[in-house]
Amino acid sequence: MKPAAFAYLAPRDLDEALDRLAEHGSDARVLAGGQSLVRLMNARLATPAVVVDINRVPGLDALEVRNSSGPATLRLGATVRQRTSELSPEVAAHAPLLAEAGAHVAHAPVRGRGTVVGSVAFADPSAELPTALLALDGRVVVRSRSGERTVEADDFFTGPFTTSLAPGEMVVAVEVPATAARTGSAFVEVARRHGDLPVCGVAATVTRGADGRVSEARIALCGVGERPVRARAAEDALTGSDGGDDAVAEAAARAAEGRSPIADCHGSADFRRHLARVLTGRALRTAIARAAGEATDA
Ligand SMILES: Cc1cc2nc3c(=O)[nH]c(=O)nc-3n(C[C@H](O)[C@H](O)[C@H](O)COP(=O)(O)OP(=O)(O)OC[C@H]3O[C@@H](n4cnc5c(N)ncnc54)[C@H](O)[C@@H]3O)c2cc1C
Repeated sequence: MKPAAFAYLAPRDLDEALDRLAEHGSDARVLAGGQSLVRLMNARLATPAVVVDINRVPGLDALEVRNSSGPATLRLGATVRQRTSELSPEVAAHAPLLAEAGAHVAHAPVRGRGTVVGSVAFADPSAELPTALLALDGRVVVRSRSGERTVEADDFFTGPFTTSLAPGEMVVAVEVPATAARTGSAFVEVARRHGDLPVCGVAATVTRGADGRVSEARIALCGVGERPVRARAAEDALTGSDGGDDAVAEAAARAAEGRSPIADCHGSADFRRHLARVLTGRALRTAIARAAGEATDA
Protein backbone atom coordinates (compact mmCIF):
# COMPACT_ATOMS: atom_id res chain seq x y z
CA MET A 1 0.00 0.00 0.00
CA LYS A 2 1.00 3.63 -0.37
CA PRO A 3 0.73 6.21 2.38
CA ALA A 4 -2.12 8.71 2.51
CA ALA A 5 -1.16 12.14 1.16
CA PHE A 6 1.03 14.17 3.51
CA ALA A 7 3.20 17.27 3.47
CA TYR A 8 6.93 16.59 3.77
CA LEU A 9 9.03 19.23 5.54
CA ALA A 10 12.80 19.04 5.93
CA PRO A 11 13.89 21.89 8.21
CA ARG A 12 17.53 23.00 8.12
CA ASP A 13 17.86 23.88 11.80
CA LEU A 14 16.33 23.02 15.14
CA ASP A 15 14.39 26.26 15.56
CA GLU A 16 12.70 25.72 12.24
CA ALA A 17 11.86 22.10 13.14
CA LEU A 18 10.33 23.23 16.45
CA ASP A 19 8.38 25.99 14.68
CA ARG A 20 6.91 23.47 12.24
CA LEU A 21 6.02 21.07 15.07
CA ALA A 22 4.37 23.90 17.02
CA GLU A 23 2.46 25.03 13.96
CA HIS A 24 1.04 21.59 13.11
CA GLY A 25 0.69 20.11 16.62
CA SER A 26 -0.82 16.61 16.67
CA ASP A 27 -1.14 16.63 12.85
CA ALA A 28 2.66 16.38 12.60
CA ARG A 29 5.04 13.46 13.14
CA VAL A 30 8.80 13.58 13.39
CA LEU A 31 10.63 11.39 10.87
CA ALA A 32 13.99 10.06 12.15
CA GLY A 33 15.13 6.72 10.69
CA GLY A 34 11.69 5.97 9.27
CA GLN A 35 12.04 2.27 10.09
CA SER A 36 8.77 2.24 12.01
CA LEU A 37 6.98 5.39 10.86
CA VAL A 38 7.22 4.71 7.11
CA ARG A 39 5.99 1.15 7.58
CA LEU A 40 3.02 2.42 9.58
CA MET A 41 2.28 5.10 6.99
CA ASN A 42 2.48 2.61 4.14
CA ALA A 43 -0.05 0.41 5.97
CA ARG A 44 -2.13 3.53 6.72
CA LEU A 45 -1.91 2.78 10.43
CA ALA A 46 -0.41 6.27 10.74
CA THR A 47 -1.78 9.10 8.61
CA PRO A 48 0.03 12.28 9.70
CA ALA A 49 -0.87 15.35 7.65
CA VAL A 50 2.70 16.63 8.03
CA VAL A 51 6.00 14.77 8.34
CA VAL A 52 8.91 16.75 9.79
CA ASP A 53 12.15 15.08 8.69
CA ILE A 54 14.86 15.99 11.23
CA ASN A 55 17.77 14.43 9.34
CA ARG A 56 19.07 17.76 7.99
CA VAL A 57 19.10 19.46 11.40
CA PRO A 58 22.76 19.99 12.27
CA GLY A 59 24.07 18.74 15.60
CA LEU A 60 21.43 16.09 16.25
CA ASP A 61 23.84 13.38 15.08
CA ALA A 62 26.26 14.06 17.97
CA LEU A 63 27.26 11.16 20.20
CA GLU A 64 29.32 12.62 23.01
CA VAL A 65 30.54 12.19 26.55
CA ARG A 66 29.85 15.22 28.73
CA ASN A 67 31.79 15.69 31.90
CA SER A 68 31.33 19.28 32.99
CA SER A 69 30.43 18.73 36.64
CA GLY A 70 30.38 15.38 38.39
CA PRO A 71 30.21 11.95 36.75
CA ALA A 72 30.32 11.66 32.97
CA THR A 73 27.14 11.50 30.93
CA LEU A 74 26.78 9.82 27.57
CA ARG A 75 24.51 11.79 25.25
CA LEU A 76 23.09 10.53 21.97
CA GLY A 77 21.39 13.06 19.70
CA ALA A 78 18.13 12.39 17.91
CA THR A 79 19.65 11.24 14.62
CA VAL A 80 22.39 8.99 16.02
CA ARG A 81 21.81 5.66 14.28
CA GLN A 82 21.39 2.47 16.26
CA ARG A 83 24.34 0.95 14.39
CA THR A 84 26.55 3.93 15.28
CA SER A 85 25.67 3.47 18.95
CA GLU A 86 26.28 -0.26 18.78
CA LEU A 87 29.78 0.20 17.33
CA SER A 88 30.77 3.32 19.28
CA PRO A 89 33.87 3.12 21.54
CA GLU A 90 32.25 5.77 23.80
CA VAL A 91 29.14 3.61 24.25
CA ALA A 92 31.30 0.51 24.83
CA ALA A 93 33.26 2.37 27.51
CA HIS A 94 30.43 4.23 29.27
CA ALA A 95 27.22 2.26 28.66
CA PRO A 96 27.99 -1.19 27.23
CA LEU A 97 24.41 -2.29 28.00
CA LEU A 98 23.16 0.08 25.29
CA ALA A 99 25.36 -1.58 22.69
CA GLU A 100 24.49 -5.08 23.85
CA ALA A 101 20.73 -4.39 23.77
CA GLY A 102 21.03 -2.54 20.46
CA ALA A 103 22.65 -5.52 18.76
CA HIS A 104 19.37 -7.43 19.27
CA VAL A 105 17.32 -4.87 17.31
CA ALA A 106 16.27 -6.16 13.88
CA HIS A 107 19.20 -6.56 11.47
CA ALA A 108 22.18 -4.36 10.64
CA PRO A 109 20.56 -2.58 7.63
CA VAL A 110 17.57 -1.55 9.79
CA ARG A 111 19.91 -0.41 12.56
CA GLY A 112 21.97 1.53 10.01
CA ARG A 113 19.01 3.81 9.45
CA GLY A 114 16.93 3.50 12.65
CA THR A 115 17.88 5.83 15.47
CA VAL A 116 18.25 5.15 19.19
CA VAL A 117 16.00 8.11 19.98
CA GLY A 118 13.43 6.99 17.39
CA SER A 119 13.12 3.63 19.12
CA VAL A 120 12.71 5.37 22.48
CA ALA A 121 10.11 7.80 21.07
CA PHE A 122 8.24 4.97 19.34
CA ALA A 123 7.89 3.21 22.74
CA ASP A 124 7.13 -0.28 21.52
CA PRO A 125 6.49 -2.23 24.76
CA SER A 126 8.69 -5.06 23.46
CA ALA A 127 11.59 -2.94 22.22
CA GLU A 128 15.11 -3.45 23.50
CA LEU A 129 16.46 0.11 23.61
CA PRO A 130 13.75 1.66 25.82
CA THR A 131 14.31 -1.24 28.23
CA ALA A 132 18.06 -0.63 28.28
CA LEU A 133 17.45 3.08 28.87
CA LEU A 134 15.38 2.24 31.97
CA ALA A 135 18.05 -0.07 33.37
CA LEU A 136 20.69 2.61 32.73
CA ASP A 137 18.72 5.22 34.67
CA GLY A 138 18.52 7.25 31.47
CA ARG A 139 16.86 10.56 30.70
CA VAL A 140 15.04 11.88 27.67
CA VAL A 141 15.79 15.46 26.62
CA VAL A 142 12.70 17.09 25.12
CA ARG A 143 12.47 20.42 23.28
CA SER A 144 9.62 22.55 22.05
CA ARG A 145 9.29 26.18 21.11
CA SER A 146 8.69 26.98 24.77
CA GLY A 147 11.95 25.46 26.00
CA GLU A 148 13.65 22.26 27.12
CA ARG A 149 12.71 19.70 29.75
CA THR A 150 14.34 16.48 30.85
CA VAL A 151 12.19 13.45 31.60
CA GLU A 152 13.42 10.43 33.57
CA ALA A 153 13.06 7.28 31.47
CA ASP A 154 10.88 5.88 34.28
CA ASP A 155 8.35 8.65 33.56
CA PHE A 156 8.68 8.80 29.79
CA PHE A 157 6.90 5.57 28.80
CA THR A 158 3.22 5.82 29.64
CA GLY A 159 1.64 2.93 27.69
CA PRO A 160 1.87 0.93 24.48
CA PHE A 161 3.44 3.23 21.87
CA THR A 162 2.69 6.24 24.06
CA THR A 163 4.98 8.58 25.92
CA SER A 164 4.77 11.76 27.93
CA LEU A 165 5.63 13.80 24.79
CA ALA A 166 3.08 16.53 24.06
CA PRO A 167 2.16 17.84 20.60
CA GLY A 168 4.80 20.30 19.44
CA GLU A 169 7.57 18.54 21.38
CA MET A 170 10.39 16.44 20.04
CA VAL A 171 13.16 14.43 21.66
CA VAL A 172 16.53 16.00 20.95
CA ALA A 173 18.66 13.45 22.82
CA VAL A 174 18.81 10.65 25.33
CA GLU A 175 21.36 10.70 28.13
CA VAL A 176 22.71 8.01 30.41
CA PRO A 177 25.06 8.39 33.37
CA ALA A 178 28.36 6.66 32.68
CA THR A 179 28.48 3.19 34.19
CA ALA A 180 30.04 3.31 37.66
CA ALA A 181 33.09 1.32 38.77
CA ARG A 182 32.50 -2.34 39.78
CA THR A 183 29.34 -2.37 37.66
CA GLY A 184 28.35 -5.12 35.28
CA SER A 185 25.41 -5.20 32.91
CA ALA A 186 23.67 -7.66 30.63
CA PHE A 187 20.81 -7.80 28.15
CA VAL A 188 19.16 -11.12 27.34
CA GLU A 189 16.03 -11.90 25.37
CA VAL A 190 14.00 -14.63 23.78
CA ALA A 191 12.66 -13.90 20.29
CA ARG A 192 10.94 -16.27 17.89
CA ARG A 193 13.55 -15.54 15.22
CA HIS A 194 16.83 -13.64 15.26
CA GLY A 195 16.02 -9.98 14.58
CA ASP A 196 12.40 -10.17 15.71
CA LEU A 197 11.10 -8.14 18.62
CA PRO A 198 11.56 -10.18 21.80
CA VAL A 199 8.76 -12.14 23.42
CA CYS A 200 10.47 -11.04 26.64
CA GLY A 201 13.75 -9.27 27.31
CA VAL A 202 15.65 -8.25 30.43
CA ALA A 203 18.23 -5.51 30.93
CA ALA A 204 20.19 -5.49 34.18
CA THR A 205 22.95 -3.45 35.77
CA VAL A 206 24.55 -4.53 39.03
CA THR A 207 27.12 -2.62 41.09
CA ARG A 208 29.18 -4.37 43.76
CA GLY A 209 30.62 -2.57 46.76
CA ALA A 210 34.24 -2.89 47.87
CA ASP A 211 33.08 -5.77 50.14
CA GLY A 212 31.71 -7.64 47.12
CA ARG A 213 28.06 -7.24 48.13
CA VAL A 214 25.54 -5.79 45.69
CA SER A 215 25.27 -2.08 46.41
CA GLU A 216 22.89 -1.20 43.58
CA ALA A 217 20.81 -3.07 41.00
CA ARG A 218 18.56 -1.93 38.20
CA ILE A 219 16.44 -4.44 36.30
CA ALA A 220 14.07 -3.60 33.43
CA LEU A 221 11.86 -5.91 31.41
CA CYS A 222 10.09 -5.70 28.06
CA GLY A 223 7.31 -7.86 26.70
CA VAL A 224 5.57 -8.35 30.03
CA GLY A 225 3.29 -5.33 30.12
CA GLU A 226 2.03 -2.28 28.29
CA ARG A 227 5.41 -0.57 28.51
CA PRO A 228 8.95 -1.43 29.53
CA VAL A 229 9.00 -1.71 33.32
CA ARG A 230 11.47 -1.66 36.20
CA ALA A 231 11.36 -4.77 38.41
CA ARG A 232 11.74 -2.88 41.67
CA ALA A 233 10.91 -5.79 43.98
CA ALA A 234 13.62 -7.81 42.27
CA GLU A 235 16.08 -4.92 42.62
CA ASP A 236 15.28 -4.69 46.34
CA ALA A 237 15.79 -8.43 46.78
CA LEU A 238 19.24 -8.26 45.25
CA THR A 239 20.51 -5.04 46.81
CA GLY A 240 22.60 -5.71 49.92
CA SER A 241 22.89 -9.41 49.12
CA ASP A 242 26.04 -11.34 48.29
CA GLY A 243 24.83 -11.75 44.70
CA GLY A 244 24.95 -15.54 45.11
CA ASP A 245 22.62 -18.15 43.62
CA ASP A 246 19.95 -17.83 46.32
CA ALA A 247 19.77 -14.05 46.02
CA VAL A 248 19.57 -14.24 42.24
CA ALA A 249 16.82 -16.89 42.41
CA GLU A 250 14.82 -14.73 44.82
CA ALA A 251 15.23 -11.63 42.64
CA ALA A 252 14.27 -13.58 39.51
CA ALA A 253 11.10 -14.91 41.15
CA ARG A 254 10.15 -11.41 42.23
CA ALA A 255 10.70 -10.05 38.69
CA ALA A 256 7.89 -12.30 37.47
CA GLU A 257 5.52 -11.73 40.40
CA GLY A 258 2.38 -9.69 39.78
CA ARG A 259 2.98 -9.28 36.05
CA SER A 260 -0.02 -9.43 33.71
CA PRO A 261 1.57 -9.88 30.30
CA ILE A 262 -0.48 -10.00 27.14
CA ALA A 263 -1.06 -13.35 25.46
CA ASP A 264 -0.62 -13.41 21.69
CA CYS A 265 0.64 -15.62 18.89
CA HIS A 266 4.20 -15.20 20.26
CA GLY A 267 3.46 -16.58 23.71
CA SER A 268 0.92 -17.05 26.46
CA ALA A 269 0.89 -14.91 29.60
CA ASP A 270 2.28 -17.88 31.59
CA PHE A 271 5.11 -18.35 29.11
CA ARG A 272 6.03 -14.66 29.35
CA ARG A 273 6.02 -14.83 33.17
CA HIS A 274 8.23 -17.92 32.95
CA LEU A 275 10.59 -16.02 30.63
CA ALA A 276 10.63 -13.03 32.98
CA ARG A 277 11.92 -15.26 35.79
CA VAL A 278 14.40 -17.29 33.74
CA LEU A 279 15.79 -14.33 31.79
CA THR A 280 16.12 -12.17 34.89
CA GLY A 281 18.18 -14.92 36.51
CA ARG A 282 20.33 -15.20 33.41
CA ALA A 283 20.86 -11.43 33.05
CA LEU A 284 21.72 -11.05 36.74
CA ARG A 285 24.23 -13.89 36.79
CA THR A 286 26.02 -12.38 33.80
CA ALA A 287 25.88 -8.82 35.16
CA ILE A 288 27.20 -9.95 38.56
CA ALA A 289 30.05 -11.86 36.98
CA ARG A 290 30.92 -8.86 34.82
CA ALA A 291 30.81 -6.57 37.85
CA ALA A 292 33.44 -8.82 39.40
CA GLY A 293 35.51 -8.60 36.23
CA GLU A 294 34.96 -12.24 35.31
CA ALA A 295 34.83 -13.28 31.66
CA THR A 296 31.38 -14.42 30.50
CA ASP A 297 30.17 -15.87 27.26
CA ALA A 298 26.68 -14.31 27.50
C1 LIG B 1 12.34 -5.29 9.67
C2 LIG B 1 12.32 -4.51 10.96
C3 LIG B 1 12.56 -5.18 12.14
C4 LIG B 1 12.55 -4.47 13.34
N1 LIG B 1 12.85 -5.15 14.49
C5 LIG B 1 12.93 -4.45 15.66
C6 LIG B 1 13.33 -5.09 16.87
O1 LIG B 1 13.66 -6.29 16.92
N2 LIG B 1 13.37 -4.34 18.01
C7 LIG B 1 13.05 -3.00 18.00
O2 LIG B 1 13.10 -2.37 19.05
N3 LIG B 1 12.70 -2.37 16.88
C8 LIG B 1 12.63 -3.06 15.71
N4 LIG B 1 12.30 -2.39 14.56
C9 LIG B 1 12.03 -0.93 14.63
C10 LIG B 1 13.33 -0.16 14.47
O3 LIG B 1 14.18 -0.33 15.57
C11 LIG B 1 13.07 1.34 14.34
O4 LIG B 1 14.25 1.86 13.87
C12 LIG B 1 12.67 2.11 15.58
O5 LIG B 1 11.52 1.55 16.19
C13 LIG B 1 12.29 3.54 15.25
O6 LIG B 1 13.42 4.29 14.99
P1 LIG B 1 13.47 5.24 13.75
O7 LIG B 1 14.63 6.13 13.94
O8 LIG B 1 13.41 4.44 12.50
O9 LIG B 1 12.13 6.12 13.96
P2 LIG B 1 10.98 6.52 12.96
O10 LIG B 1 10.42 5.33 12.29
O11 LIG B 1 11.40 7.66 12.11
O12 LIG B 1 9.92 7.07 14.04
C14 LIG B 1 9.23 6.18 14.91
C15 LIG B 1 8.25 6.99 15.77
O13 LIG B 1 8.98 7.79 16.70
C16 LIG B 1 8.71 9.18 16.48
N5 LIG B 1 9.98 9.88 16.59
C17 LIG B 1 11.16 9.53 16.03
N6 LIG B 1 12.12 10.38 16.41
C18 LIG B 1 11.53 11.28 17.23
C19 LIG B 1 12.01 12.41 17.94
N7 LIG B 1 13.30 12.78 17.89
N8 LIG B 1 11.14 13.11 18.69
C20 LIG B 1 9.84 12.75 18.75
N9 LIG B 1 9.32 11.68 18.10
C21 LIG B 1 10.17 10.96 17.35
C22 LIG B 1 8.13 9.27 15.07
O14 LIG B 1 7.31 10.40 14.91
C23 LIG B 1 7.38 7.96 14.97
O15 LIG B 1 6.14 8.08 15.62
C24 LIG B 1 12.29 -3.07 13.35
C25 LIG B 1 12.05 -2.40 12.14
C26 LIG B 1 12.07 -3.11 10.95
C27 LIG B 1 11.83 -2.36 9.67
